[in-house]
Amino acid sequence: MLTNDELAKWDRENFMHPSTHLSQFARGEAAQRIVTGGEGVFITDRDGNRLLDGFAGLYCVNVGYGRTEISEAIAKQAHELAYYHAYAGHGSEANITLSKMVMERAPEGMARVYFGLGGSDANETNVKLVWYYNNILGRPEKKKIISRWRGYHGSGLVTGSLTGLELFHKKFDLPLAQVIHTEAPYYFRRPEAGMSEDDFTAHCVEKLEELIAAEGAGTIAAFIGEPILGTGGIVPPPEGYWEAIQKVLRKHDILLIVDEVVTGFGRLGTMFGSDHYGLKPDLITCAKGLTSAYAPLSATIVGNRMWEVLMQGADEFGVLGHGWTYSAHPIGAAAGIANLKLIDELGLVRNAGEVGAYLNKAMADAVGGHAHVGEVRGEGMLCAVELVADRDKREFFPASEGKGAKIVGAMAKRGVIARAMPQGDILGFAPPLCLSKAEADQIVAATAGAIEEVL
Ligand code: PLP
Repeated sequence: MLTNDELAKWDRENFMHPSTHLSQFARGEAAQRIVTGGEGVFITDRDGNRLLDGFAGLYCVNVGYGRTEISEAIAKQAHELAYYHAYAGHGSEANITLSKMVMERAPEGMARVYFGLGGSDANETNVKLVWYYNNILGRPEKKKIISRWRGYHGSGLVTGSLTGLELFHKKFDLPLAQVIHTEAPYYFRRPEAGMSEDDFTAHCVEKLEELIAAEGAGTIAAFIGEPILGTGGIVPPPEGYWEAIQKVLRKHDILLIVDEVVTGFGRLGTMFGSDHYGLKPDLITCAKGLTSAYAPLSATIVGNRMWEVLMQGADEFGVLGHGWTYSAHPIGAAAGIANLKLIDELGLVRNAGEVGAYLNKAMADAVGGHAHVGEVRGEGMLCAVELVADRDKREFFPASEGKGAKIVGAMAKRGVIARAMPQGDILGFAPPLCLSKAEADQIVAATAGAIEEVL
């Protein structure tokens, strides 16, 4: 086995890590943590730490670590048929079976599922399908996509543009011209302190209407949103938001893409976030929870309205020129089947709702009254603690002080992983859906202790 020093050297010399501060490479710092294993909600590292993973990797290891049901299904698939492509109507038992399982779980009104690799490429597929749809309908000018500031939809060219966080735009020449952004449904950061939640929903709707009027409804193809903002700060929408937004979209014949990469397959205590918020999507994006990250796989679920138009264009348009070598990879599909079965057998959707509510309440009780906690919010197995310099004035700490990151560091010393969300001092929690109440208590105790220590 390699020593820690050898690994650190190889890491420093060779590995360009994703989404990592460039100064870490410039200073020649080695990997932050070398993870060796996982069991349930815990991971272990090379330094002998055992940590409760309060973010399920990147909100993806939904069934928890070390599930032999999934690893054995992957091994069996690799032995029997590691790969065959899915182009031109080819398939395998694994990907055909998974397509049926996904459609059985999908919200009403959905017609087919298309498999890719990860959330970013699934959203890329969605944008292309929306453009294709409008070309079939003979309206080539209806192409722009509306996204929200603070939305997160990936980091490719189109998907990085959809993402409404500056970090993913700057120096990459994004967003692309076809993507436009509207107000984030972020009540805590509302423009005027005196606004009620209803006023703020009305304000978001007004901003959307203004944008549509300025651009022209005839140029706008789709609106994309996560049921609850994830990477942008874990922010549930204000009361009535989705109902009002959907009304506007219907009025202007704008398609709805619901990005369920985080919320799909149980995280909000319902199979999909669309079920939770009464959304009627034309396209749904799934990834993470589809395989609990045991293998890369994404899914685009295509709604009836879009499917009917694609079928109308069949003779004229011919082959849908869109696919990757690894689309619907049989190993990913085998992982997906075992994962969805496990979610059912262990009742993890229900557990996410119950223990998630317990975690959110316990967190609010423990730290909600702290002078530097502005808000504790969440839904299902998602929770966030937003830090403030001054509670009454809703003033934030200067970014340079990195308070959120310091607290996350102090939590790791207490044996719990949280995530410092990328914009603002926000502590994010998205534990595996199998979290127990005792483990939720452990997360809350570490958070309270770390906040006391740092602030
Ligand atoms: N959409 C949402 C809502 C996400 O949270 C993410 C990733 O965190 C993505 C899309 C992108 O997925 P991936 O990182 O698999 O490309």
